[in-house]
Formats: sequence, C-alpha cells, structure tokens
Amino acid sequence: MQLFKPEPDEAIEPPQSGRAVAVVVSVNLWRGFDYLWPDELGDPAVGQRVRVPFGKGNRKRLAFVTHCDRRLGKRKLKAVAEVIDRQVQFTDGLWKLGEWISRYYLSPPGMTLAAMIPSAVGRHAARSETVAFLQSVPADWPGSLGGRQKRVLDELFEAKKQGVEPLALESLLHHSGASRDTIKRLRQRDLIRLESRPVRLADLPDAATAAPFDMNEDQQQVFDAMKPKLQADEFSCTLLYGVTGSGKTEVYIRAILDVIAAGRQALVMVPEIALATHTLQRLVQRLPRVAVLHSGLTDVQRAHHYRQIHEGHADVIVGPRSAVFAPAGRLGLIVVDEEHESSYKQDTAPRYHGRDVAIKRASIENIPILLGSATPSLESYHNARQGRYDLLRLDSRVRGLSMPTLQIVNLRKDIQPGRIELIGKTLTNRIAATIDRGEQIILLMNRRGYASCVFCPSCDWRFSCDHCTRLMVFHQATQLAMCHYCQHTSPLPGRCPACGKKLLYFGYGIQRIESELARKFPAVRLARMDSDTMTSPKQFQKVFDAFSAGELDLLLGTQMVAKGLDFPRVSLVGVISADTALMIPDFRSAERTFQLIEQVAGRAGRADLPGYVVVQTVNEDEPAIQFAKSHDYEGFAEYELPTRKQTNLPPFSRVIRFISRHEKLDRAEQGAELLAGRLAASFASVATMFGPQPAGVKKIRNQFRFQVLLIFSRPGAVQHILADRMEELCKDCPSEIIADVDPIMLM
Ligand code: ADP
Ligand code: ZN
Ligand code: ZN
Repeated sequence: MQLFKPEPDEAIEPPQSGRAVAVVVSVNLWRGFDYLWPDELGDPAVGQRVRVPFGKGNRKRLAFVTHCDRRLGKRKLKAVAEVIDRQVQFTDGLWKLGEWISRYYLSPPGMTLAAMIPSAVGRHAARSETVAFLQSVPADWPGSLGGRQKRVLDELFEAKKQGVEPLALESLLHHSGASRDTIKRLRQRDLIRLESRPVRLADLPDAATAAPFDMNEDQQQVFDAMKPKLQADEFSCTLLYGVTGSGKTEVYIRAILDVIAAGRQALVMVPEIALATHTLQRLVQRLPRVAVLHSGLTDVQRAHHYRQIHEGHADVIVGPRSAVFAPAGRLGLIVVDEEHESSYKQDTAPRYHGRDVAIKRASIENIPILLGSATPSLESYHNARQGRYDLLRLDSRVRGLSMPTLQIVNLRKDIQPGRIELIGKTLTNRIAATIDRGEQIILLMNRRGYASCVFCPSCDWRFSCDHCTRLMVFHQATQLAMCHYCQHTSPLPGRCPACGKKLLYFGYGIQRIESELARKFPAVRLARMDSDTMTSPKQFQKVFDAFSAGELDLLLGTQMVAKGLDFPRVSLVGVISADTALMIPDFRSAERTFQLIEQVAGRAGRADLPGYVVVQTVNEDEPAIQFAKSHDYEGFAEYELPTRKQTNLPPFSRVIRFISRHEKLDRAEQGAELLAGRLAASFASVATMFGPQPAGVKKIRNQFRFQVLLIFSRPGAVQHILADRMEELCKDCPSEIIADVDPIMLM
C-alpha cells in the first residue's frame, strides 16, 4: 500500500517476542506507526481493525493494520492491545477505495478507514439489543419529574400512540437526550420497562410483491443500450438524463434484475430523504432481498445489516451516501439516483462526495455505474458531453403525460401593497380552486423557521448568534431564536438591548407561511415537512401515509418535498420564493435554483390530473427561472456552462478549499497565512490561489475561520502532491487546517 508509509525502522533494544506491524491510527495524522504484534494475537492481516495505545497517555485508539511484515529488529515497540476483527472487514476493492478517498479528499487514512465501517461491527457486536416499553399512563406520571425524564416518557407515549412501541434504548437515549441514569430512575419508579431481545431486522424477502410494467419504447431503448454494459466485466459510467416522471426507476429496476440474474449484487444510492418515499417502496416491492441502510437504524441494527451484506445474503443494497461502503463482495452494478443532490457530499471528515466515490468504486471493481437525474449536475453533464460518460435520455413522461405548465409570478405585483404576506393572489386562487376540486397541493418554502432576522428599526441592532457570525432565526413553535449553523437557541429579548425600542421580525421562514395558510384557508388539512418537524423517519412516514391516503390536502415543506414523491392527486405545486436559493452567494446558486424548481415542479401532474406550477419570485428575468419555465435543462446548461468556463470554475476546474480554524481570531488568520505561503511556494505555477481571507461565515461554534482556495485544472497532479505533503503543509500551524476537496459551497 503506497499511502500508509510506516516510519523508518529504528534500532532500539531490548528484543521483544512477536513481530512488528504498521498501523494507521484513527486520528488527524497522516503517517503510520509500528507496533509489536504479540504472538498470542494470532496472525495479523492487512485491513484488520485493532486497538493500540497511542500518544503520551496511551489512550486506546482504533487503528488499521497496513503492513504485516515490518522488521522488528531490536526495537522497543508498544504492543497492539486488542484485535477487533478476526476476519478483515474490507474487501480488496474497499481497501483500495479507502486509500483513494484518503488521498483524493486529503483526509487522514486512519480517520477515512474508520468512517467506512459502522462502529458496532466486529467482535463485540451484539446480536441482541435493549428495548423500552411504557409501563404507565400520563395520569400516573408524578409532577416532580425532571425535564429529561418527562421527555423519555413523552417519546414512549408518542411511540405507543403511533403503534411503534417498543423503542430501541439507544435511539430513545439519542432522541430524548437522556442519560442511562435517567432511564434507571424511571425504571425504579416502574414507569418504564426494559427488555433485551434479539435484533430484529426486516427480513430480506425473496420474492418481489409488485408486478412489473411493460416498459415503454423510450425505456426499452435505454435499457437495451445499458444491457451490453451490464454484462461486460468492465467499468463504464452512464448518465441517464430523464425528465421528472419519465420512469427512471423502472430502468434501474430492470438493470438490477439483469445483474442479479447473473449472480451479482447491486448497490442503489439515493438521497437520505428519498428512503422514506415511493422510490424506496418501488425498489423493495420489485426486487428480491433488498437491504435498506437508512439513518433510522440503531448501531446494532446497522451492524447486523452490514454482516448480512458481507456474508452475501443481500442482493440489493439501498442507502444514502455511506452505503457506498457496503461490503458487497459480488457487486455488479451501482446506481446513483438524483446524482445532482448536494446531500451526497459529507460535511465532516472524510469530506467525500458519495457519487464520486461510487464512480471510483465502480472503476476499482470493473463494473458499470448508472447516474440518474432530471437535472444532472453540470459536472456530470459536462463529462457526458466530453464523452467521458455515456449519455442516455428519457425525454418525455410515461404514458404520454405532459410536463406541468409553469407560471412565473412577480411577487411584487401579486401581493397587496402594505400587507405582510408571501402568498400572492395567483397562488392563493390556485390553492383555493385545487382544494375545491379535492386535489392535492405541494408547496415549497426553502427556509426553516419563522423570521430569518430579528432587528431593531431604530438603531439597526440585529440578533445574531453568540458563537457564530450569523443571524438568529426566530422559531414560532418554540418561541425561541435559533442559529442554523450551530443549533444554539436563545430566548428573544423583549426589547432592543441597545436602545430599548421595539424589535421587528424580518424575512420569511416556512413557519410564517404556515400561519399565512392557516389564516387564508382555515379548513385546509396541511402538514409541514422540515427538519424541525421531521426529526425521525417515522414522522416522515406518518405524514407521507396521511398524504397518500388523502387525509391531507397540502404539504408545505423545505427541499424535502422536492424528492422522490410520486402522488397521483397532486395537481398544484407552488414555489413560495424562488429567490431563497438564488440569493446565496455561491457560484452554484443559479444551478441549485434551476434544480430545485424543476424537481419540485416534477411532483405535479404525475398521473391523470394535469399539473400546474406557480413560481413566485422578485427576479422574474433570472435565466435559471426562465429556463425552468420551459423545463429546458439543456438550455440552462448551455447558458451556464460558458459562464463557468469564462470564470474558470467547476466543471472547468477543480477547487480545494482549505479552512484554518481556531477559537482565537489571530491564530486562525496566522494559520491560514502560513498555509497559503506554503501552498504558493509549491503550486504557484499550476494553480490559482485565493486568500487567505475570512470564510463566508467568519465564525462557527466559537471558531474563527479563514479560507484559502486553490483552483486548478489538472486534478491528478495537484492532489497527488498534496496528499504526500499534507503533514508537512500543516506542520507547526497555530490553527487546525481542514481540506475540503470539490466543496459544494464556498461559504
Ligand atoms: P422518475 O424517477 O423518472 O421521475 P418514476 O420512475 O418515478 O419517474 O416513474 C413515474 C411514474 O410512472 C411512476 O408512478 C411509475 O410507477 C410509472 N411508470 C414507470 N414506467 C412506466 C411504464 N412503462 N408504464 C406505465 N407507468 C410507468
Ligand atoms: Zn435598537
Ligand atoms: Zn451559531
């Protein structure tokens, strides 16, 4: 293994019995370390997880064996303390993939490898877990209960009501924020009961339960074009650009069935939120032995699934970005649905992009990969146009359905002057008419909270987070202000702390739209879907089911409602403000705006009712909005790509963003300067450097942030050099340095 370079052998006595191995430790360090491998641990193997005493305090750390054949010589080495895996968890392909991720994403090897295996997998993995039942009714609950105890009981009560009792203790602790002590006290008071039971997983059913469609001509053509690739033992990357409702899922299913018939496994990646939608239902109903790796799994359940996959029992693995690490040994196909989704990028180390890692995995395993989207990322579209990917298309909706009609409304002209509202006349009338016809509505408002700014009109004081340089957002339900960067909450000051005058709310959030709807349509049955209301997959499922059953008329949501939903009775979609995404100062804001409108518009008119979409904006002439009006993805791409080319931005270049962060402003700045100096010395001829400069958000969670951007056109060269030199580049730096390769935001 190239990357994990062990330290040079050093001669120290006295001799020890055993042999020496090299490991990488799961800490923020690049180099490897030699350890003694005592004979009683059996034979070491590359990829084995172990625990080793590390650093001055000899804390036991997770580590991975990278070399088994180190010369022990006369050195005095610390000994490996414990072997976690008797059997190596990495397949050869995954091990190589780990190496690639570490180098490409400039993420220390030990940390990278650690992220690839769920922590509960391994020797101590339990086959049973503890679950909690409610043993009392609210009337019995003593008044003297603490806040946490009350929350535990509330969670259990809610679960009981919804018929999903018992709850796994682990998730109960997680959701209620309670400690094991709290649980113990509740148990002593006989308010709850604990039980241990074998981990229960949805069985992996053998047979499909739903009947297949006859593919239409377009689908058949796409499938025929895929077929030779599915049977070839070689890497290929295909972009399936198919408009919303064109039946991409059916094509995935056929391709997967083909691969399974040949005795292989398929991996399907979907955005996290789509795991609770029709997309998943259809996959599960049509395919055999599907393992679903959703985020609602407890650690123990996840480990169980992982084992199932490792042992080859699953034919199909469906999951969000981390599913790309599923230890499938017979992989024959990877599908990445909604490949343009920015949620595929992880925002903590390792900062990988699930789609791009999937492409790398396919190339390592010599298998085909299929990327699907109605609004491909400009990166993928560009790659297809350059001939690096094959492009297949589905240009029209299934069953001859037409694309929804889209009307752009200038909000300035559509609301009554002086009224504080954000739902204009046009949309209001459309909503009323749709409800009258007994049809359903989806409204998108892509901003959480109630008011995005609380300020004082007299002295211009603004309520901002104590820990970040961001404005606090007012949430009505909790009557608290919240920072969307660090989740810090705080009560609102009654009056301006600077001058004592009355404060005003400014800027709209989704909760304010909810109140406006309630005022205008008192009888409407609506649900709000955002990360404040949808804190667990179960809640999402509940709303989803109610909407399917026609018990709700209207879904109001953030971008959550733009994905994977396929409700036949939705005939109206409204975009409350197309400007929220547009106003984010990022080079991808136009692309995101186009994607968002097109995706949410695609929820309308998917069956027999014609679809109508109202897009409210104050930027009527914005090209992203105009192209969305005619569902003209290619027009948008042809317009946007030359701009990117001119400004040398992706997909015409690569970006690496370095962040230097520290609690002290001057140290964050000095770190950035030091790094920038070193980068300039190495890369002046091959890359353009911007910065050091304060990051878009200058402070998050009490840490000041400075950034340095490297923009270059030949990724291979720059990244290889960087990967070799990361440790050197960050040496003696007064701050913490983070690399973000292919960042999705430059904020
Ligand atoms: P996309 O992912 O491209 O938006 P879907 O795969 O969700 O589209 O398909 C849209 C709808 O069309 C779904 O309800 C699906 O069941 C249906 N569908 C797919 N293929 C066919 C077909 N060949 N004939 C009839 N209906 C189809
Ligand atoms: Zn004031
Ligand atoms: Zn904050």
